[in-house]
Amino acid sequence: MGRFVTRFAPSPTGPLHLGHAYSAMIGHDMARAAGGRFLLRMEDTDLERSKPEWAALIEEDLTWLGITWDGPVLSQAAQLDSYNPALERLTEMDLLYPCSCTRADIRAALAAPQEGVAYDVYPGICKARSMESRQSGDALRLHLDRALERLGGQEITFDETGPTHKGRHVIDHAHAIATIGDVVLSRKGENIVAYFLASALDDVAQGITHVVRGEDLFDFTAIQVILLTLLGHPIPTYHHHTLIRDENGKRLAKRDDARAISKYREDGLTSQDIREMVGLA
Ligand code: GLU
Repeated sequence: MGRFVTRFAPSPTGPLHLGHAYSAMIGHDMARAAGGRFLLRMEDTDLERSKPEWAALIEEDLTWLGITWDGPVLSQAAQLDSYNPALERLTEMDLLYPCSCTRADIRAALAAPQEGVAYDVYPGICKARSMESRQSGDALRLHLDRALERLGGQEITFDETGPTHKGRHVIDHAHAIATIGDVVLSRKGENIVAYFLASALDDVAQGITHVVRGEDLFDFTAIQVILLTLLGHPIPTYHHHTLIRDENGKRLAKRDDARAISKYREDGLTSQDIREMVGLA
């Protein structure tokens, strides 16, 4: 087996909170236990919400937690050109279409809330548009049905080592279309790569062997594996860890500043206290 390489990939749009710290500690501990590498990547392609100050605070908090990373921190915003060849390739394959929809347009088209999906599947308003009709402010979406058709009978699979979904997964085309659909790969108005593609491409570029992250992202793995398969890239192994819950068993919200690591630091707690709180002592 090759060397174990994993990463922690926060979006620097707010402070590091307990849930992030837990995720970083799990990835870090797995890499160190395997004698592998632990990398840090700032997923800062949302240029409006990402701030260098948040990135700096995240690094400070991780250091305080006793987490060390190997090599320089990768900033996606600093290498936006690196994602263009993949977008061009998908355009050549005729798998992208321009989209001018606002969130309000999408919500209005989804007459009733969609059952059983954690995510608003794009209702296809712009789906018939061709790339020739692209306006400067348009986003680009993946035409998922066409992408899957192109892969034909090819079995698309990935391996998962996390506790909840352990095993080999074969991606079910109809399920992916119904639950994830035509995701945005290039953002509206900015011509900037979006999360699904940037994150998957960097996992490959950074030689990640194990994508360690929270199980809230498990459902998105299918789309990232589809993108990597379309582009002919190797597929990493995925490890989705369980999420920590508060005293009432409720999943911790992403933005819960009361559980910001910097707040615990100010309150005089130690990194060992944090490890004990999340059950990793
Ligand atoms: N940047 C994403 C987040 O902060 C995580 C991406 C990933 O681990 O794949 O939620």
